[in-house]
Amino acid sequence: MSQYIFPRRIDVRKASKQEAKVSGTIPINQLFRLGSSLHNSTGEVFVSMRFSKDEADRSLVEIETSCNLELTCQRCLEVVKVNMATQARLAMIFPEAKGDYLPLPDGMEALLTNDQCDTWEAVEDELILALPAYPKHPDGNCNLPCSTYSNVNFAELEQKDMTKPFSDLLRLLNNDVKEGDSHGSSKE
Ligand SMILES: [Zn+2]
Repeated sequence: MSQYIFPRRIDVRKASKQEAKVSGTIPINQLFRLGSSLHNSTGEVFVSMRFSKDEADRSLVEIETSCNLELTCQRCLEVVKVNMATQARLAMIFPEAKGDYLPLPDGMEALLTNDQCDTWEAVEDELILALPAYPKHPDGNCNLPCSTYSNVNFAELEQKDMTKPFSDLLRLLNNDVKEGDSHGSSKE
């Protein structure tokens, strides 16, 4: 089955009037904003868009995407593959619109666009919104040898953390005590 590259720009006014359906793929390595959240930018996003008009004469687009993204596990920092599928119903708001299409019905979001919509940007926005905040492997599947934890001296770590931020404060307090001799918490 051959997949077409999804057209980057679509005349969305025309597409809505014609109730057009468009589908294709976008290479993930072309979505640069999304790329900064990925472990690897391999693969592609499958996209389908269905354009229409509603009874309020809004131009609408339903965007469906699916892809396998390679994210970074926040527990072991190794790659974790995540199946993504997004679905959104968007009302296209053109620059000359002065709020005439608002408010939007429940479940409908706004897509600010010119007549020539950058569809790749719209898809990228949907994926970024759907990214898990803390991607990680299922419990117990991380690549963490037990010894990583057992070798750590927690008491030592704690002491380092505790003394650093308060050392200056302690010095200030000591000075204070010498001058005023009444604020020191050490006397209480
Ligand atoms: Zn992991």
